[in-house]
Amino acid sequence: MAIEVLVLLLALAGVLPAESKFMVYNTSAGIDPNKLNVHLVPHTHDDVGWLKTVDQYYVGSNNSIQGACVQNVLDSLVPALLADKNRKFIYVEQAFFQRWWRDQSETVQSIVKQLVHSGQLELINGGMCMHDEAAPHYIDMIDQTTLGHRFIKEEFGVTPRIGWQIDPFGHSAVQAYLLSAEVGFDSLFFGRIDYQDRAKRKNEKSLEVIWQASKSLGSSAQIFAGAFPENYEPPKGFYFEVNDNSPIVQDDINLFDYNVQERVNDFVAAAVAQANITRTNHIMWTMGTDFKYQYAYTWFRQMDKLIHYVNQDGRVNALYSTPSIYTDAKYATNRAWPLKTGDYFPYADRANAYWTGYFTSRPALKRYVRIMSGYYLAARQLEFFKGKTTSGPNTDSLADALAIAQHHDAVTGTEKQHVANDYAKRLAIGYTEAEALVASSLACLVESTANKECGNPTTKFQQCPLMNISYCPPSETVLSNGKDLVLVVYNPLGWKREDIVQIPVMTDDISVHDSEGKDVESQLIPITEAYHKLRSYHVKAYLGRNAGGTPKYWLVFPVSVPALGFSTYSISRAQGTVISAGARPTKSSVYTVQRGENSVVNIGQGNLKVAFSAEGKITHYINKWRTESVEQSYSFYAGSNGTEKEPQKSGAYIFRPNGSFPISPAKQTPLTVVHGSIVDELHEQINSWIYQVTRLNKLKEHIEVEFIVGPIPIDDGIGKEVATQISTTVKSKKTFYTDSSGRDFIERIRDYRTDWNLEVNQPAAGNYYPINLGIFMKDEEKEFSILVDRSVGGSSLSDGQIELMLHRRLLLDDSRGVAEALNETVCVENKCTGLIIQGKYYFRFDQLGEGARWRRSYGQEIYSPLLLAFAEEDKNHWRNSRTTSFSGIDSSYTLPENVVILTLQELDDGNVLLRLAHLYEVGDHKELSVMTSVELKKLFPGKKIGKATEMSLSANQERAEMESKRLVWKVEGSAEEKETKVSRGGPVDPVKLEVELAPMEIRTFIIELVQLNNLFDA
Ligand SMILES: [Zn+2]
Repeated sequence: MAIEVLVLLLALAGVLPAESKFMVYNTSAGIDPNKLNVHLVPHTHDDVGWLKTVDQYYVGSNNSIQGACVQNVLDSLVPALLADKNRKFIYVEQAFFQRWWRDQSETVQSIVKQLVHSGQLELINGGMCMHDEAAPHYIDMIDQTTLGHRFIKEEFGVTPRIGWQIDPFGHSAVQAYLLSAEVGFDSLFFGRIDYQDRAKRKNEKSLEVIWQASKSLGSSAQIFAGAFPENYEPPKGFYFEVNDNSPIVQDDINLFDYNVQERVNDFVAAAVAQANITRTNHIMWTMGTDFKYQYAYTWFRQMDKLIHYVNQDGRVNALYSTPSIYTDAKYATNRAWPLKTGDYFPYADRANAYWTGYFTSRPALKRYVRIMSGYYLAARQLEFFKGKTTSGPNTDSLADALAIAQHHDAVTGTEKQHVANDYAKRLAIGYTEAEALVASSLACLVESTANKECGNPTTKFQQCPLMNISYCPPSETVLSNGKDLVLVVYNPLGWKREDIVQIPVMTDDISVHDSEGKDVESQLIPITEAYHKLRSYHVKAYLGRNAGGTPKYWLVFPVSVPALGFSTYSISRAQGTVISAGARPTKSSVYTVQRGENSVVNIGQGNLKVAFSAEGKITHYINKWRTESVEQSYSFYAGSNGTEKEPQKSGAYIFRPNGSFPISPAKQTPLTVVHGSIVDELHEQINSWIYQVTRLNKLKEHIEVEFIVGPIPIDDGIGKEVATQISTTVKSKKTFYTDSSGRDFIERIRDYRTDWNLEVNQPAAGNYYPINLGIFMKDEEKEFSILVDRSVGGSSLSDGQIELMLHRRLLLDDSRGVAEALNETVCVENKCTGLIIQGKYYFRFDQLGEGARWRRSYGQEIYSPLLLAFAEEDKNHWRNSRTTSFSGIDSSYTLPENVVILTLQELDDGNVLLRLAHLYEVGDHKELSVMTSVELKKLFPGKKIGKATEMSLSANQERAEMESKRLVWKVEGSAEEKETKVSRGGPVDPVKLEVELAPMEIRTFIIELVQLNNLFDA
């Protein structure tokens, strides 16, 4: 049917005789250098899930929630663009575009290709979604952008030019330098910056800037960035969706209400107002908003008329435009622009409305996304080692689910509950398939001998995604029936790794051996009631079955795993066999201490020891170079219900506390102390809904805090936001550092902003920042760092103190659109209780200048935990018939300590996508913040590199091509100020194949591999 409409329209546009009443509007205006140019940018903002799920938005179902159908938008757009070649449109969200594209006939596809090539339809931003910039990890941002960009390249042969982050709630440095400059964008536009900042920038005409967001990469990764004057909608009075009430242009003199002159005057007035706060004679009007253009004609008809009559009037010049045309026009003016460094966090849209609650909202979903992110990275490596096949499980659906989950109403926690469930369901489906792939890849690797291709492996591996709640069927059942449990431990990092694994077991009658049959030291730690409860409730809730028998112990033992490879361990029932004492686990000594007793508890078997007072408070952190005082506590903020004068409530987006209240441990609950040869723990029931384990293991010099928080009680009618505080003697002088999307650290100063004179009206909420990797502070002597296991909000609200917000449960909506209270529950047989979350954070002191090493390398270990796969088999048979140790890289090689592999992935065409990242910033560390290099040949043992092509970050064009097109912007004052020289790795010699990496540099390659054996076999 669409084609018939098209043909009809073409006929109408071109063939009708001139003498008819048909009005031809002149929409052909380009840029007029002598006038104020009003760039009309028709767009729709299509959330990849928010009030409805992504599929509901696409097909237009569930319209009682929101009348929105993206299919309508894209269907109606094609004939509307064909009807006039001057009309333009941008489309952004690839998750929707790809759904639609798959549905189109070849004829429509070829028409759309023409529209893209003529520039009428421009695909910008180009990721699967418009990712958030606070809650996603930069690796996820890269992956979801790559997925969209490569599709656009393959289907249309084009590369998106513009970053279009118009709705995310604040903007990160990583978005500017990495996901914009490094993917080859020419500019970046967005809608949401702090209201105080915006006011000042309007005044100074500095909404548009050159943003140098990376200290390390400086001007080599800068971008022209524009914040809109208000939001991403049209000026007031220029909304033209079917039911919008803006006055349309009535230009038929035979009908009543003719209003051409009025509308032209309105247009000119709005344009002049915007010109008064904008540099150059170019302004942009974002003509559209959420889910608009469902009937694209309604907008284009009005814009046709406005362009025609406004240009007839002649005071300003109106034109159909895109952000690319606008950017080129700005660039052509050859003006210098103000410099912006740092980022645009936190965001407040008015006083008492800081969008800092969503940094923590839906902490379980945030953790799920992060676990899946690390798993996806590892699964792609294993998929590459096995060889990607067209049949059988793969990582594609996990890739897609993860991409969508980065949307600014997904991992942010600002969607409706049913939509959050949809994201989790997609992740679970993607995980299940990736889990099967990982199992079969590992099976191939353990069964293959050198140089033999994988056939149909018979080894059955199981994994335990619910290990965190002590649920792991293979480790529980296998040992019960007398078989050996074989554990393959995979390390996705490019360095050899020593770590501790922890698995639940039913009995103490066991032994642990490595792959050579040597005894492995191990320890048994009793699993406490808190975990039994978590386990039985959540297995029932999430898997719909009973958890079965209850494991009694955590079995803990150290493992050593090669780079990008695995080691094998076996766990056996000791019963009836001769087992040397060294293979038997030692039992922990466990005792309790009454709170308030006049005693001190010490834990720690390694270099680090911690002393606790009998109150359960950490008193001292003791290592070889110093003793530090530390205190850790919990509190909650009462969520504001708003007042008559200031109705703003605390909700999914906004953190607006109404007082802070300490949570003191219940006097009558004793502390439980666990001592062992490997791990020491202190267990505390803080109150009836907070349980905490403080843990030290002898391999690592940091403290691990594991918390179980919830259900947050609400029977008093008060929503609560639970935080933990860690207080030290660091003389931090109001200054602390938080990461940008898990990468660069940015300096934060309490009650202060670099860009304007901050008026403080929310001393807690206004000092909160997003944390993905960690937060730290320092003084003349030392650094104190905390690393996190998911994205959370955090701050330093007094000197020497750091606070993390761990969980939120609120009873009212905060009026930013979601129209639902953030009150998550978990249900078993229709009985629902408030969400319980479990997680970890890690902290440590370092001497000044040394902290980065732990933050970067251990931070990478948190992101990429060891992957455990279990099989049931006789351990001796296994040892004799299987590969028990493997490394995907040359066994003589290890990646430099300051480099990590972000991506190792086989593409559909058989080539390999490889991303290498330097982990350190300039000035982070005296030995590690230096140029380093990676030998590509060593990464592919047994294969020959045919060709290595350096690509843009999203791998949609060659790096050289991207650099050759890069616009060179002028920065105000930069001619006088001497910029420190930016360091970048040099070109890669095609013979030597060594990749240099400068601090914070990420380099992306597509590599053609040749199997060496085949060369010689032929
Ligand atoms: Zn949005």
